Amino acid sequence: MKAIELKKKYIEFFQTKTHKEIPSAPLIPEHDPSVLFTTAGMHPLVPFLMGEPHPSGKRLVSVQKCMRTQDIEEVGDATHTTFFEMLGNWSMGDYFKKEAITWSFEFLTGKNWLHLPLKNLSVTCFVGDNDAPKDEESAGIWKSLGIPAERIAFLPKKDNWWGPAGETGPCGPDTEMFYWVSPGPAPQKFDPSDKRWVEIWNDVFMQYNKTKEGKFVPLTQKNVDTGLGVERVTMVMQGKKTVFDTELFQPIFKEIQKLSGSKPTPKNIVSFRIVADHMRASTFILGDERGVVPSNVDQGYILRRYIRRVIRHGRKLGITHDFCPNIALAIINMYKNEYPLLLQKERVIIEELRKEEDKFQKTLEQGLKEFETLTKDNKNITGKEAFLLFQSYGFPLEITQELAAEKNLKVDVAEFNVEFEKHQELSRIGAEKKFKGGLGEVSEMTVKYHTATHLLNEALRKVLSPDIKQRGSNITPERLRFDFNFDRKLTPEEVKKVEDEVNKRIKESLEVRREELPLKEAFAQGAQGEFGAKYTDVVSVYSIGNYSKEICGGPHVKNTKELGHFKILKEESSAAGVRRIKAVVE
Ligand code: ATP
Ligand code: MG
Repeated sequence: MKAIELKKKYIEFFQTKTHKEIPSAPLIPEHDPSVLFTTAGMHPLVPFLMGEPHPSGKRLVSVQKCMRTQDIEEVGDATHTTFFEMLGNWSMGDYFKKEAITWSFEFLTGKNWLHLPLKNLSVTCFVGDNDAPKDEESAGIWKSLGIPAERIAFLPKKDNWWGPAGETGPCGPDTEMFYWVSPGPAPQKFDPSDKRWVEIWNDVFMQYNKTKEGKFVPLTQKNVDTGLGVERVTMVMQGKKTVFDTELFQPIFKEIQKLSGSKPTPKNIVSFRIVADHMRASTFILGDERGVVPSNVDQGYILRRYIRRVIRHGRKLGITHDFCPNIALAIINMYKNEYPLLLQKERVIIEELRKEEDKFQKTLEQGLKEFETLTKDNKNITGKEAFLLFQSYGFPLEITQELAAEKNLKVDVAEFNVEFEKHQELSRIGAEKKFKGGLGEVSEMTVKYHTATHLLNEALRKVLSPDIKQRGSNITPERLRFDFNFDRKLTPEEVKKVEDEVNKRIKESLEVRREELPLKEAFAQGAQGEFGAKYTDVVSVYSIGNYSKEICGGPHVKNTKELGHFKILKEESSAAGVRRIKAVVE
């Protein structure tokens, strides 16, 4: 079975269980400052798991593009990639363990579905501790379906628990499904530490609320959140040893082979895998709804790191000329039907790759020479030296670390950071934020900024031009950032007018209301949507008095008077024909 068929079957299966399909959210999340990328299908659904009603109902299913930079070190093994697609199904306070597990089982083993043999399946469940009891319920359901007791392992929180560590909010046990991927029969007894068992699917049960006092009280709205990896299950379905042996990577390998003239061998296979994975990641970041370009901060820095690492590994394979655009074209070609935006953004993707590659190819050779000189007596790299490699040759710290590790040498990261601060080039390099997994992240300030963003959007249309559309938005608890189409700098008078307009609406104490409408109806009523965004058939629409109407997932304040005073900090260019405003409410 090919990946494309797997995805189709999954959606179909859950549609027969009355789930509604929702589109993949962007890789770059809109209103969650706690994380740089969408790391799982549940991530864009956080407000709904918190109780906000979802316009598509209580049973949802999706194919979500995901990015886990935190897995970058593992790229090279058989089953980890930084970019992958996740299939997921959700219950928002609807069905719970019995249905979720039964359906997972049916999809995996059912004759009309994946039809995987039971003899290769194992599962893990939560073992229980002082906070919550052993998850006998899940184990019992697995047993009733035919999973033998010796194929069920009970593990502690570290493995089988989802939710905030040390914080408050929804949490609960999960149950994970593993598949035996080695030739020869699977052992009778399941040993979850044996790497030949590969995790393919995870069902999370949000069952408790962790209180400030550290108590775990049962939730009123119990949710199910599941995630199945497309690459891994495709590998399993095709009896391949690694995800890279499937049609999801082989065309990329062919392209690398063509460009480098080298075949994959045990010695260079890790470079093949890194180039293939990071090029997929880079292509999807550049081609995202909220695509970013290489830079020294946040997502742009991760992208830069990916591309530069690709170039270095390309060189290890013997490629010295420009090659990233060629590989990206192969990837766009593979995914253009499922993600038409990649094709629409092809020019930007290719152009940005070419520019970044050009920049780095120029300095890489010399930087590598410098690195050799610095380490010729097998001496560790000081922070100052790492900083020199960064500043003069564009080596991201991680590349220097990787080069050093190949020689069993270390890099003084603490000193590097000191140097870095000194130069104040960037403040947040490498400070990659990991998705903490908690649902309680929606702070009061973020909610305020969310509503302020709607007011700003409308004010811009009023003051500047009715043609203005949102081109991107990003909110942190400290500020809002809003991109919109406009082809010149705003005058100071215009900035002031926009501010006054927003503050006027805040003072009017306008009520914020939410309703659900069919998408067509929402547009017919003049609701604003984001340029290029994908929407479900029924959408939630937020109105602020009679002033603004936008398609939006929320959450928002109840009344504009909660916002305080609105102030624009900065107005600048973001891309050709796109302006960017940063603003605060105080
Ligand atoms: P692992 O322990 O193998 O890293 P995980 O516990 O991080 O997996 P989950 O967070 O439960 O995985 O994600 C749900 C599913 O997504 C997994 O069962 C797997 O199929 C897939 N998945 C997770 N991480 C990756 C990755 N880096 N590359 C490919 N697929 C992944
Ligand atoms: Mg993992």
